[in-house]
Amino acid sequence: MSTSTSSTAAQHHIMGVYNRAPLAFERGRGARLFSTDGDEYLDCVAGIATDGLGHAHPVLVEALKTQGEKLWHVSNIYRIPEQEELADRLCAHSFADVVFFTNSGTEAIECALKTARKYHTANGQPERIEIFGFDGSFHGRSYAAVNASGNPSYVEGFGPRLPGYSQLTFGDHDALKAAIANPTTAAIIVEPVQGEGGARSIPEHCLVSLRALCDEHGVLLIYDEVQCGMGRTGKLFAYEWAAQDGGVGGEPHIMAVAKALGGGFPVGACLATTEAAKGMTVGVHGSTFGGNPLAMAVGKAAFDTINTDEILDNVKRVAGYFVQQLNGLKDRFPDIIVDIRGKGLLIGIKLIPNNREFMVLARDEKLLVAGGGDNCVRLLPPLNLTVEEASEAIAKLEQACEAARAAQNVVA
Ligand SMILES: *Cc1c(COP(=O)(O)O)cnc(C)c1O
Repeated sequence: MSTSTSSTAAQHHIMGVYNRAPLAFERGRGARLFSTDGDEYLDCVAGIATDGLGHAHPVLVEALKTQGEKLWHVSNIYRIPEQEELADRLCAHSFADVVFFTNSGTEAIECALKTARKYHTANGQPERIEIFGFDGSFHGRSYAAVNASGNPSYVEGFGPRLPGYSQLTFGDHDALKAAIANPTTAAIIVEPVQGEGGARSIPEHCLVSLRALCDEHGVLLIYDEVQCGMGRTGKLFAYEWAAQDGGVGGEPHIMAVAKALGGGFPVGACLATTEAAKGMTVGVHGSTFGGNPLAMAVGKAAFDTINTDEILDNVKRVAGYFVQQLNGLKDRFPDIIVDIRGKGLLIGIKLIPNNREFMVLARDEKLLVAGGGDNCVRLLPPLNLTVEEASEAIAKLEQACEAARAAQNVVA
């Protein structure tokens, strides 16, 4: 049957790089996904933190339809007013002065890394090329992004590593200080809340000292907020938790954003201060699709909807509920759950049983959760999830914990 989704034969022309669940969806609304088999799921993956407003949000659907009938694509050799408007919004609500638009998180990271090196070249210090990241980090899948990431398996077998990329161990302050003081260092790249690595949040005071240390040595600080940005932590950008009024706090010089920026439409952005972007002059970088009118129209609608007290307060409220309830589950299932971590609605549940197997148990309860490093499952629900939906998710997780316990007892 050509509509069969469980058959492996149906996937035989798809490059085999994904470990896919035997499940496909035909429509969604809010936090609900409806499978081709007719089942209804509660979606706490949201396209990996991408469908920030859930599925088929009416404001986004309207923006897409309206722009779809006007203009989809023109080249960046012309001015694109929708792009200028979204850039105005991003800069008005962040540390940044300028924006480069992309179609993905990886491309936003690529731009951030190029911007950092070009800055030092523009300053007459082309020897400053070293980029330091952290273990367990994820920055995307291009050559530069995998070299910047802290997951060695992503670079293996793809030829030599690119020069100028190294990873530091979380919490090794001496190594971090030495890296920043190194006269060939260009930038430090870090996720304020690690996503794929297992929802590890960096303490706010660490971001503040990191920025101060970078400034002291002329090193640029790049934040990867591809996953933790756009409202995910209860502020528009995660670094705002570490920002200081009237002075420099934990802000970056350069930042990559994507995922929820387009609410499910592919949009990414590299944000920077004027100073940090001084090397990015005419002709040094570009993109065919990046910042096209269709993407920008949806991006503007997503931005205006997410950047409201209604959504940001909801994230804090629902996140508070989740953390309280999940810690209750942890107390009742110490044989299953060992830690609850993360920030806002980027929640990690560190497990004793295998996280991939636990995802299947959750799916049996019609709950979708994402995997993560350090044997975590992640909850990344839409930012407009209600407390009622959150409580439904908790009930399903409890059932999954019961099932995991039963499975462990069978093995033992
Ligand atoms: C998803 C992600 C990326 C890569 O984004 P793509 O859109 O998949 O290219 C980069 N950094 C972080 C933190 C991410 O979560």
